[in-house]
Amino acid sequence: MTQRVAVLAGDGIGPEVTAAAVRVLHAALPACTFVAAPVGAAAIASHGTPLPDETLAVARASAAILFGAVGGPGFDDAPPERRPEAAILGLRATFGLYANLRPARAFAGLEHRSPLRPELVRGMDCAIVRELTGGLYFGPKSLERDAAGALTATDTLIYRDFEIERIARFAFDLARTRRRRVTSVDKANVLMSSQLWRRIVTDVAREYPDVALDHLLVDNAAMQLVRDPREFDVIVTENMFGDILSDEAAMITGTIGTAPSASLNGPPGARGFGLYEPISGTAPDIAGRNIANPGAAILSAALLARFSLGDDDVAWRIEHAVAEALALGPRTADLDDTNPASTEAFASAVIARLGSPVPSDAALRCGV
Ligand code: NAD
Repeated sequence: MTQRVAVLAGDGIGPEVTAAAVRVLHAALPACTFVAAPVGAAAIASHGTPLPDETLAVARASAAILFGAVGGPGFDDAPPERRPEAAILGLRATFGLYANLRPARAFAGLEHRSPLRPELVRGMDCAIVRELTGGLYFGPKSLERDAAGALTATDTLIYRDFEIERIARFAFDLARTRRRRVTSVDKANVLMSSQLWRRIVTDVAREYPDVALDHLLVDNAAMQLVRDPREFDVIVTENMFGDILSDEAAMITGTIGTAPSASLNGPPGARGFGLYEPISGTAPDIAGRNIANPGAAILSAALLARFSLGDDDVAWRIEHAVAEALALGPRTADLDDTNPASTEAFASAVIARLGSPVPSDAALRCGV
């Protein structure tokens, strides 16, 4: 099986944090090889399109994609297919990446950075499973004048039974590797798509009698996340709800700079193709200064090792090294106001800790 990784660093802080993640993954797994290709605004500048054919060819010939972020100023008036973000939707559709896993973990020593009280956050460790190729973001859209002359925008929220079933299975399979609890989030009191969602998740749950299931309306889920985030284990939800709740969960952990993600086209244990990226954007306000937190990119590389390279041991080592570096420092500017480390210095601190023994107690381990 190839250990080749496509590196699509993109724009803004993407190249900086991705370079840090490549350094760490290479140090942990020297057999891994990396091939860079352009994407996003950088690819529009060099190739006239956000997702050039040659980039797709590099991705197809790889076991996984390590992705930075895309986007930037100057594209407000561009048609959708000429915007940097089109690259992300194109990659999701091309590779059928229907499952987006977003772990949200409060790292020891960072509780004081959370907007919540430390005692509410300490020990928070949930995994948000977001459906990624359906729902409002992919349904037909239009902007037209109606018969009465009103400018009318329409987005369409479509879910098919099989799309809900496969993401539910993904969540239950994942829960079996964790604390065996799934919370399904919907808006079944209002939306037809959510009523189907709830029915199918309930049906799938019957195949997993060892996993507890509860349902929450999305407004209540947003409240419960800030009331007691430690309550949650696996959260499974549709595309837009997952997008919003995962940013909320990341912020509760103290910074978006340590929030990784994996986008997969098969079950969590299948060792399949995946795209791995920080959940944040290109952060134009701090780009090019070597001050961004590369933690999310490095933890995304750990997920890549686990889910696409099948190397759980390397994943644990990287995750443990990041947890230690975050606990003991040095920390980047989003976490340290007085003596911040650079992006590169944080990556070096992680590499220096790759050899430290990983606790055998699973409860002390991080990641998913
Ligand atoms: P953002 O996530 O880029 O930034 C939000 C805030 O978080 C900023 O203050 C930024 O400095 C901070 N931040 C983000 N990552 C950080 C890190 N690693 N270390 C320290 N601080 C960090 O969100 P935005 O400003 O809304 O979006 C900027 C651009 O990114 C837009 O063009 C948007 O379309 C794009 N975007 C891309 C993706 C993606 O590529 N997957 C996702 C979201 C947004």
